[in-house]
Amino acid sequence: MKVGTVKEIKKYEYRIGLTPDNVKSYVNAGHEVYVERDAGLGSAFTTEEYEKAGATILDTAKEVWDTVDMMVKVKEPLEAEYELFHEGLIIYTYLHLAADRPQTDALLSKKVKGVAYETLVERNGSLPLLAPMSQIAGRLSVQEGAKYLEKIFGGRGVLLSGVPGTPKANVVIIGGGSVGTNACKIAVGMGANVTVIDMNIQRLAYLDDIFGARIQTLYSTDVNIENAVKEADLVIGSVLIPGLAAPKLVKAKYLKEMKPGAVIVDVAVDQGGCCETTKVTYHDDPIYEVDGIIHYCVGNMPGAVPRTSTIALTNATLKYGLEIAGKGLERACRENDVIYSAINTYDGKLTCKNVADSFGIEY
Ligand code: NAD
Repeated sequence: MKVGTVKEIKKYEYRIGLTPDNVKSYVNAGHEVYVERDAGLGSAFTTEEYEKAGATILDTAKEVWDTVDMMVKVKEPLEAEYELFHEGLIIYTYLHLAADRPQTDALLSKKVKGVAYETLVERNGSLPLLAPMSQIAGRLSVQEGAKYLEKIFGGRGVLLSGVPGTPKANVVIIGGGSVGTNACKIAVGMGANVTVIDMNIQRLAYLDDIFGARIQTLYSTDVNIENAVKEADLVIGSVLIPGLAAPKLVKAKYLKEMKPGAVIVDVAVDQGGCCETTKVTYHDDPIYEVDGIIHYCVGNMPGAVPRTSTIALTNATLKYGLEIAGKGLERACRENDVIYSAINTYDGKLTCKNVADSFGIEY
């Protein structure tokens, strides 16, 4: 199969879909690999390294899009890329269609086979292509939250750990999955008072086993969320219902009851966010204020640490990419229901029920 990757065009996105080592794996498996010139520089991979690994370097993204049968990316295609789609092309990337009707329509009308990292589910229910980025975003969320709690950024002027004789900051994590657990690790490590809220009791039991008395776990109800958020210095939004827009758990009216200068880091922003007041921000201007509460809602947080992120992501995507390229998408799906779970669009049809439900259309 002809496999390729291009430079990401999303603002402040420096990750890339294939590393030079990945290229070597595809080439060793008998595939041809095409890479846009200098596409890997943002993750500190040089064009020479890709060439040495066996890739053919093309000068423009358009040449790569036109050549390949399977495009391996990181972020969802943006509007400027829709015209580069061709019928039968496999796009293997994060798609996040539930929050993006124009992209969904473009994939359907061009009959692109959209294979979404975020809906690929392992048989044990885990999301292996979301997990590495969630680990990074979770760990970053506390680091960013701590920074914006500083007075100079409009924050409350609170140090997460406090020092002996002063109160610790309250960190409330809504959603105790991959993002939430990693946020919890860092927040506990920094010495904050940490509360984790989830609707899955087994998940809460797991977190209680892991972190013991160092955290408070709470079942997710409107009352528990409102009360916890009111006392919080830092709120981390990290809920997910796969393929669906995030539920709006932090209501706009709660903000008026929160401590002035508290910070909300809504990591779930890529699924629409779990706060009513969330709107997407970017690394160059990541925060805004509503009712005295600082909001940080960057949709591609791992893009801040692209070298780590690219290696972590491609460690997870390579295995399935090789299977798709080796067998063809159809046979790979017939033989492996894990890959089947990632197909969002096929031959002009929506094939992910949750995405279809989000738009209220047939699937
Ligand atoms: P996950 O599936 O591992 O965890 C989600 C958790 O949310 C689960 O434990 C689930 O039980 C819980 N949940 C669902 N509904 C809830 C509710 N009503 N109340 C409380 N908890 C609820 O998912 P994840 O990998 O941790 O990802 C979380 C979110 O972060 C996703 O939207 C993901 O796309 C996003 N994310 C964003 C970035 C970024 O850069 N902004 C990076 C990575 C992940």
